[in-house]
Amino acid sequence: MTKENTNLNIDTSDCDSVSGLPTSDKFNRRIFRLNAESAKYTVLMIELHHFHDINTLNGYDFGNRLLHKFSDSLREIIGDRGEVYRIERVTFAFIIDGNDLNFAKKLYEQTLHMAEHFEIDDCIFNLEMFGVLWCVTEPHEATQIISILSALIDHAKSEDDYTFIIYDDERHNENSKSIELINTIRTCILKDCEGFYLCYQPFVSTVTGKVIGAEALIRWRNEEYGNVSPYHFIPYIESHPCFYDLGLWILRQAISDAKKIKERCPGFFINVNISYSQLQRKGFKETVIDILNETGYPNESLQLELTERCRNLDMCFLQEQLQFFRKNNIKIALDDFGTGSSTLELLCNLPLDCVKIDQTFILNILKKDSNQVIVDATMRCSDRLNVDVCLEGVENQEIKDFVEQYPASYHQGYFYSRPVEYDNFLSFLDYHWYTNKIRILKSNGKLNLDATNILSMIPGGFFIYVDDEEERITCANEELLRMFECKDADEFYELTHNSFKGIVHPDDYDSAEKSIKAQIASSDSNMDYVRYRIITKNGNVKWVHDYGHLVTSVYDKDVFYVFLGDVITE
Ligand code: C2E
Ligand code: CA
Ligand code: CA
Repeated sequence: MTKENTNLNIDTSDCDSVSGLPTSDKFNRRIFRLNAESAKYTVLMIELHHFHDINTLNGYDFGNRLLHKFSDSLREIIGDRGEVYRIERVTFAFIIDGNDLNFAKKLYEQTLHMAEHFEIDDCIFNLEMFGVLWCVTEPHEATQIISILSALIDHAKSEDDYTFIIYDDERHNENSKSIELINTIRTCILKDCEGFYLCYQPFVSTVTGKVIGAEALIRWRNEEYGNVSPYHFIPYIESHPCFYDLGLWILRQAISDAKKIKERCPGFFINVNISYSQLQRKGFKETVIDILNETGYPNESLQLELTERCRNLDMCFLQEQLQFFRKNNIKIALDDFGTGSSTLELLCNLPLDCVKIDQTFILNILKKDSNQVIVDATMRCSDRLNVDVCLEGVENQEIKDFVEQYPASYHQGYFYSRPVEYDNFLSFLDYHWYTNKIRILKSNGKLNLDATNILSMIPGGFFIYVDDEEERITCANEELLRMFECKDADEFYELTHNSFKGIVHPDDYDSAEKSIKAQIASSDSNMDYVRYRIITKNGNVKWVHDYGHLVTSVYDKDVFYVFLGDVITE
């Protein structure tokens, strides 16, 4: 086997100036040669972890000197049994001649020992390091080797698992489909996030039964792989530098969609998931503000969800980041609470607006007493801390009925809607505004609602406020005006003041009457709906799946009826 170069005889023209090591170009050429010669070789990749801490604490010059010295040590360790390359900033790869696994393992152990006792300027550093090894017995392209080994390290990083990984061609053939998927996805991010799109899953207020916001959830679609769930790629890419661009793409897309949704539903807010790697990236929080400013979207209608691994970040660092968002009126939710390392300590010490109880607790809450205990305790704790609670995984009617005993602020789950694409989400909203029922306020203890409060939460409806037996319309809000195609409240009044009370379409009269009577008779029951026709000012017919809502307080004194009626304009 002829070597293109050895470490004893380096062609310095292709060497990196910081480390003095040959770069990834040389690595690629060397692998190409070895493949052409059908040679057997082993690649050992190592990556230093938390190196930015060294740069931050000691300055970049020191960091560079350290890398140089570290690279010298790597070259000494490999000697004439192979070569070492600097692939990326803190990623190095050895190419070792042959497939001697024991020798390669020993080399790794020596490197690890060197890193853990790394001496420079009379100081000893414990450099944390990930390592992965591949005994290559069949030819593979250099770029493929690098991206597979990087993906394995990324995954180990995301799990905070420093175990040395041994990969081989057999495992490669088993995993190649999913590894190829990750590689394709990474390439697509570089191509302006090709194939990515967002789905929206609503949050429903437990007070009004209405949609008040939605969570943006990423998807990826490609001809070969079809629709791919984030569970199959987020954990493998979130620690890779390319994820940062995807994260910003998600934020921009979600905010610009939410802005359009807000035109129809003024109180709407959007939740966007955030990974730990985004928070760690310098300048991320300022970029969030820039995006909001560029879009003209109100800061207070954005809520960032801290996904599970964010909770492994240093507490002081997290507090600092979250304080920044809070100062800028951006809301923060703690995602998947109850799983992994979500401790009550985080709930108590972080400036949070919302806690999302993980769906695993809700999905089998009926069967597992221990889940009920956890939900109960989190509810009480959040109440004391004045933090909203969202219950995830409200999947069916049975679960919904059961969890109504908890004073959560909102629910999310398949019972209300699966995550759907933007256009479908809009259609869902149109339907949902009119069909949903207001829950009686008695059950959740939030009794301090006045007419203005309720009006701000319900986008459509006539409101009759019953006060000392006098009934009067108090307001027509924006959604109502939109439904009736009136440009302002005066126009709406003109259109409706003679025809409102009790006016329903004759076809619907019987069922409406029965239903309304039934509701009034049972003040704490859920309400059914009937279908109504609205004839707008311009003569258009709209079907509305609703006849109104009845909301009563425990005192049974104030009663709001919300009626949608047929407006006959001739
Ligand atoms: P997550 O943030 O906990 O999102 C909720 C997941 O639960 C979603 O899966 C949603 O489809 C699913 N789900 C919602 N309601 C129900 C239900 O009633 N029953 C069941 N069985 N499942 C329900 P999805 O969309 O596949 O997302 C999976 C995970 O991927 C998310 O979990 C989140 O951790 C991550 N993810 C998704 N989008 C993003 C993103 O834009 N950025 C980041 N960093 N992570 C994301
Ligand atoms: Ca989430
Ligand atoms: Ca979640």
